[in-house]
Amino acid sequence: MRELEERILKDGRVLPGEVLKVDGFLNHQVDPDLMFAMGTEFAHRFQDAGVTKILTVESSGIAPAVMAGLAMHVPVVFARKHKSVTLIDDLYTAEVYSYTKKTSNHISIAKKFLQPGEKVLLIDDFLANGQAVQGMFEICDQAQVTIAGVGIVIEKVFQTGHQMIVDRGVLLESLAQITSFDGDRVHFASEDVD
Ligand code: 5GP
Repeated sequence: MRELEERILKDGRVLPGEVLKVDGFLNHQVDPDLMFAMGTEFAHRFQDAGVTKILTVESSGIAPAVMAGLAMHVPVVFARKHKSVTLIDDLYTAEVYSYTKKTSNHISIAKKFLQPGEKVLLIDDFLANGQAVQGMFEICDQAQVTIAGVGIVIEKVFQTGHQMIVDRGVLLESLAQITSFDGDRVHFASEDVD
């Protein structure tokens, strides 16, 4: 998505550890117009997937997920993060290792918000090694729902998450695909296409 790539080039900063900082429009301050355009793009890309619900993880997945839910007219549920979960009777839970914080959290969702038979679209802000998406897969498996696809705002295709999702046979759509960081420079997969 050209608008997103241009914004990354304008406002993104490359940090050590192959982390892209985009707190000016996605991870801290949020640009609603760009989020709306991204939600519309997700709705377009998954229009034939029969989506009945969107699942994301707090907090940075919420803005793009809500905009996709608005465009697709389906509810959005976000997994909550906890250090540990003790009262789990009414919850689906999974453990997720955070790429940026280098700690493990549990994510959880109240069982009543994921009913068997639903077709769930997973949305997140970044895809790196796929831990967050893997945690959402585990929750979907516990809930016995169908995964309609994975929608990512910014994918770093050189990390391992991409292959993990492809190996599971799930449709993956990313609005910006970063192929490499070269110092401060960000390279996109779209540069390789004529
Ligand atoms: P994964 O679980 O795929 O390894 O990493 C995805 C999660 O880590 C995302 O939910 C996001 O919060 C965070 N993350 C991974 N890479 C980046 C990055 O380059 N920049 C930012 N801001 N967050 C990232």
